[in-house]
Amino acid sequence: MSKIQDQDPAIYQAIEREKRRQAEGIELIPSENYTSEAVMEACGSILTNKYSEGYPGKRYYGGQENIDTIENIAIERAKKLFGAEHANVQPYSGSPANTAIYFALLQFGDTVMGLKLDHGGHITHGLPISFSGRAYRFVQYEVEKETGRINMEKVRELALANKPKMIVAGFTAYPRDIEWKKFKEIADEVGAITVADISHTAGLIAAGELESPVPYFDVVMTTTHKTLRGPRGAMILCKQKYAQAIDKAVFPGLQGGPHDHIIAGKAIAFEEAMQPAFKEYAKQIKKNANHLAEELKKHGFNLVSGGTDTHLILADLTSKNVPGKQAQNTLDTVGITLNKNTVPFDTRSPMDPSGIRLGTPAVTTRGMKEPEMERIADWIDRVISSINDTAIHAKIKEEVKEMCLKFPVPGIKI
Ligand SMILES: *Cc1c(COP(=O)(O)O)cnc(C)c1O
Repeated sequence: MSKIQDQDPAIYQAIEREKRRQAEGIELIPSENYTSEAVMEACGSILTNKYSEGYPGKRYYGGQENIDTIENIAIERAKKLFGAEHANVQPYSGSPANTAIYFALLQFGDTVMGLKLDHGGHITHGLPISFSGRAYRFVQYEVEKETGRINMEKVRELALANKPKMIVAGFTAYPRDIEWKKFKEIADEVGAITVADISHTAGLIAAGELESPVPYFDVVMTTTHKTLRGPRGAMILCKQKYAQAIDKAVFPGLQGGPHDHIIAGKAIAFEEAMQPAFKEYAKQIKKNANHLAEELKKHGFNLVSGGTDTHLILADLTSKNVPGKQAQNTLDTVGITLNKNTVPFDTRSPMDPSGIRLGTPAVTTRGMKEPEMERIADWIDRVISSINDTAIHAKIKEEVKEMCLKFPVPGIKI
């Protein structure tokens, strides 16, 4: 980074401080990960200079021979990794990708079913103030109060009553397996298009650690930067039948020139995800999440749905008498990063909800395993149960840093 250092000290120093933060702290935000150095090289490459509106072989600008090669490789790898009929690797990120899917397959005002935001859905699954909620008539299903899980019989009743044109499944804060086949059966019963948003779990699905919706669902969207561990971005997989509509909606429907440097990074990440080491990685993500969940339970934490089948844990802190925001901010001071989160049927506001959301993709990339999960659970418990004791916090911060420096972050040398 010597060029940035010479030219722009303000940005340089902020990046250096961020490097230190990433290296010395524990990253438990379940949507975050550390991408490989190879992926970062692609994202920082000269490919950022190119304009390539259109698709391979059908571009609106000249000079595309290398860009076409890269995008075609990315498409082929995406299809192979997930067994998909068609792949569009151009979406800038998850939210624009979902918007493209809706734009491709719905008319404004159509009825869509998605999981309620405070029950684990994403903003683009029908939050009234989001584009999705403004442009379409979203009917929202919920999780059960007692179990924290989706009751498929209730989903079916809601579908029969509302006759949606599309059903969206796949979530942002739901720790359990998703019954893709049942969603598909319900959608078929009412003639709805099925959309799976596997942004959080794509890496686990690619590795065979969670069931894939690709064989059943019409359209599957994923971000590439969460458990899939690629660059920031997204892709859309679909049945051949929808390929043309999806491609047209991404470009020229919603986007202009694709980000070719990021597409190169996606191609590299897809190849990495096909390696045996990635399968081991995904297995360990789940083991770590399960172990962390069990350890938190031993410390008296109340977990939504009682645990996890995935990389993600949602804890309700009501019984600990510490609000989510204070927990997040205090844990930040010791170098443990996670996010405050609403829990289903939350009585508090989204800006200061009752829960916290944690996940293991990032710590697992660093090579942390079950013994480290035990230490993490113990630190979280000590911080939460001594929420105002800054002396204890300072001590924990040192312990966290000491452990973290034994587990390097790709691309960071301290
Ligand atoms: C992260 C996420 C998205 C959005 O991704 P961005 O890249 O942040 O726009 C969409 N859907 C789900 C379920 C997600 O978890």
